Amino acid sequence: MPDTTIKHPVIYHPRYKLGSGWLKYLHKLDMDKPGDLYRALLQKGLIDADHIYTAPQATNAQLKLAHNQDYIDNKIGNKVWLADVFQLNLIKWVPFTLTQHLLVTPLLYHTGGTILAGELAAEKGWAMNLGGGAHHAHANDASGFCMVADITMAIKNLRQRHKHMRNIMIIDLDAHQGNGPERDFANDPDVYIIDMFTYGVMPDGDMFYPDDRRAMQRINIPVKLNFNTKDDTYLQKLQNALKTAKTDFAPDMIFYIAGSDILEDDALGMQAITKSGLIERDEMVFAFAKELGAPIVSVQAGGYQPNLGKIVADSIENLDNKFNLF
Ligand SMILES: [Zn+2]
Repeated sequence: MPDTTIKHPVIYHPRYKLGSGWLKYLHKLDMDKPGDLYRALLQKGLIDADHIYTAPQATNAQLKLAHNQDYIDNKIGNKVWLADVFQLNLIKWVPFTLTQHLLVTPLLYHTGGTILAGELAAEKGWAMNLGGGAHHAHANDASGFCMVADITMAIKNLRQRHKHMRNIMIIDLDAHQGNGPERDFANDPDVYIIDMFTYGVMPDGDMFYPDDRRAMQRINIPVKLNFNTKDDTYLQKLQNALKTAKTDFAPDMIFYIAGSDILEDDALGMQAITKSGLIERDEMVFAFAKELGAPIVSVQAGGYQPNLGKIVADSIENLDNKFNLF
């Protein structure tokens, strides 16, 4: 019998998988990115099913840490709103119970996973949710494949449970500008945000998504990236941002939004980072957390290309080699 008392702070649930069957042919979202990552980590022998944490589904009380009941009833419970957020018109025409099964419930597991990750990192120094990272969701609305504000909930839950955890640093390295936590913590100086994101005019004349100027003003260190930024430039900018952050703010906890849509083959991120650049990026962030002695939570956020699970697993393997995580 495996000794299930020893657990690594990796959080996953098979229900993280979005959709099933036909839905996967309709959307650019990889519907089972967390599952691919989970299986790649299993294959490397870094984790096994008995020694990680199973994500719970976020409860109504947890949702209310970020949203009011009206949001819960009339947005999460409304297939027209969901169709818009997920750019999936078809769900307007299928029974809501099906949408709930394929989309809403899985995302509630992702959310529960992020909240649990915050708690585990406080205890163990680090934690990884193999899903989560809905950085375009805030108290009153959401967009860009995000449904509920998991990061806001995790931060509020953490502060309630651990009174000494007050200063939170968010390092958002998803290719898209974050606008959820930025809005939710607009007036909270104890949340410090570094965000590196693609910025510019798209071929169709629109600004790269989300171009949320109000949220952008809240970012302590906004780093606008040109399209197709390469490794050297990217990593130099990250190093500079971390250096500034270190003198500005002493975090009790770091939330790392580790979006992998900065990769060169990504369908949406418009960046040109190689696999080794991504690995170096993640290492830089974990080294920074270690240097500061701050616990770190990572969530996966965006990433829209095949084989992503293997790439991210390679990065986690590198983190294990460097920082002895497992
Ligand atoms: Zn993104």
